[in-house]
Amino acid sequence: MVRFSRVLKKYGDNVVLRDLDFTVAPGEFVTLIGPSGSGKTTILRLLMMLEHIDGGTIHVAGECITHVERDGKLVPANEKHQRRMRRQIGMVFQQFNLFPNMSVLQNITEAPVRALKLSKGEAEARAVDLLEMVGLSDKADAHPSRLSGGQQQRVAIARALAMRPKVMLLDEVTSALDPELIAGVLKLLKDIASTTDITFLCVTHEMQFARDVSDRVMMFDHGQIIESAPPDELFTAPSHARTREFLQAVL
Ligand code: ATP
Repeated sequence: MVRFSRVLKKYGDNVVLRDLDFTVAPGEFVTLIGPSGSGKTTILRLLMMLEHIDGGTIHVAGECITHVERDGKLVPANEKHQRRMRRQIGMVFQQFNLFPNMSVLQNITEAPVRALKLSKGEAEARAVDLLEMVGLSDKADAHPSRLSGGQQQRVAIARALAMRPKVMLLDEVTSALDPELIAGVLKLLKDIASTTDITFLCVTHEMQFARDVSDRVMMFDHGQIIESAPPDELFTAPSHARTREFLQAVL
């Protein structure tokens, strides 16, 4: 479902990802862990097409998101191609990023109406179902500023799901939440992951969550995957010294 092939990403002289290769299978839940600055968020930003790459290709759902073929040659994808591909990818951020001037319902219906051309009625019906799923049916008309962080994050999750994405990217989705709200949001994500066929790529410092929900955990260091294994294996018997050292520091 997601394939990075020899991906190179630099910021100036700083090579953040070098010849990075990995795949995520359809329906798989993969968590990226690793020290700060190792390139985890950059991977999500590349998938959201918020950054260009300096080499290699990225495929989502069998289609290249970074390049298109023209006259038998691969050329960088244009904005229109990227917009179409981006619709298949949902992202939930650390800082919710809801539209502050819109109600909860409008936050969820805006993209399906604008980008998927759903009618207002269809988009609202979808939003009502999603609000029920995330436990916020009574907040449809509220504005984000009236909601707790945990509630805002639930709306952000509903908003991403409203686009029926094939892939969901989760970037430190609990870091801005009060401790007592974290478990509820993680349980919601776990339920979604186990009841849908969405492919997840998640960056988190919540090691227990990574352990509970992931099919596979990839340990990153200096823009390279140094270990990739099911969580029971990676957390209990990491094969790489760097992984052991990292886990000792964070667990
Ligand atoms: P963290 O766990 O702290 O979020 P990370 O593993 O997600 O870290 P990235 O945010 O992907 O790491 O950053 C990887 C490297 O890229 C770092 O060296 C960072 O300084 C650099 N970097 C990230 N974004 C930019 C940018 N917009 N301009 C320049 N350098 C950047």
